[in-house]
Amino acid sequence: MIPYGKQEISNQDIESVVEVLNSDFITQGPKVPEFEQALICYTGAKYACAVNSGTSALHIACLALDVGKGDIVWTTPNTFVASANCALYCGAQIDFVDIDPRTYNLSAVFLSEKLVKARQENRLPKVVIPVHFSGQPCEMKAIHQLSLEYGFSIIEDASHAVGASYLGKPVGNCDYSDITVFSFHPVKIITTGEGGMALTNSSDLAYKMRLYRSHGIDRDIQEENNNEGKWFYQQTALGFNYRMTDLQAALGVSQSKRISEFVFERHRLAARYDALLADLPLDRPYQSSASYSARHLYVIQLFLDSLKKTRKEIFNELVACGIGVNVHYIPVHTQPLYRALGFNSGDFPEAERYYSRAISLPLFHHMTESQQDSIVDALTRVLA
Ligand SMILES: *Cc1c(COP(=O)(O)O)cnc(C)c1O
Repeated sequence: MIPYGKQEISNQDIESVVEVLNSDFITQGPKVPEFEQALICYTGAKYACAVNSGTSALHIACLALDVGKGDIVWTTPNTFVASANCALYCGAQIDFVDIDPRTYNLSAVFLSEKLVKARQENRLPKVVIPVHFSGQPCEMKAIHQLSLEYGFSIIEDASHAVGASYLGKPVGNCDYSDITVFSFHPVKIITTGEGGMALTNSSDLAYKMRLYRSHGIDRDIQEENNNEGKWFYQQTALGFNYRMTDLQAALGVSQSKRISEFVFERHRLAARYDALLADLPLDRPYQSSASYSARHLYVIQLFLDSLKKTRKEIFNELVACGIGVNVHYIPVHTQPLYRALGFNSGDFPEAERYYSRAISLPLFHHMTESQQDSIVDALTRVLA
């Protein structure tokens, strides 16, 4: 089976992790700040906070922005559930903004329309979480402009977009957001096994996120009375144990040296798909000229009206051919948990239409051309 995504682990990666196993620190130690520094250098953000997953990074990002009961968070329905769950963790309400049918990203136009209505109803969001779906950055300039007009904060969910750039600058620099979140799950661009990071240019947000990462405990706090010594710490907030281990961070440091190479390879393979699929009854992924995608996913949209098979039949036949296709994403608002909160099918028609026609083809940076050719051959036969 050719998987839809897969990590690449080099001998150097393995040596880096083994080195940590032989060292004094295996939980959060010196490798964690080194990994944070590597991504600060790569993105240009001022601060970084590495944690044990992208989901944890989203959670502490919401907490640092004071998301809580009575607040509303908006995101896109075309995402992994974690982008919405983080608001619920904080006791906030969630709502969605439908997608741009060209990029499959949260639409800045729909956002603008929804904000006008929300202001009239006095239900403006505190935070908006645009997701750079498939690695292609959202229209951050327009979204940022709206944030100034309507007073919301922005968390970029860049789980797919490590190594992407927007208007010529690296995603993660937070030029148009308060916080950017990365995931290092093995199918993503670089991996730490499990892991995530939150980047920001605000020292205040960075301080809060570090606090929430480790129980809400501040070890640098000034000793208030002279009877306290080096052991002294103060818990000032209800935090979590979201720490990344040094084993993970060492893998991250080693992987991060290859971000550009990985993304370049993904572009080369995506361009090959574009050429090889040109005559098939499907839409290939549109790429905006404002951005350089990280090419996390290669999603095709089937012309189901002119095909004699359903998406399910096509999907199953590809799996039977040994092709590990996938579907990204079931619109979050149609999940049972979200239906129980009052959402229904039909609420976000663009995301639902997109979902009904979508198949993600395998794409990972060390996929061979012959693997890719066999995927295209199978797809051609199945669609014939
Ligand atoms: C993978 C992913 C996450 C969650 O990241 P984890 O590291 O798996 O917790 C969040 N949002 C999106 C869009 C993702 O693809």
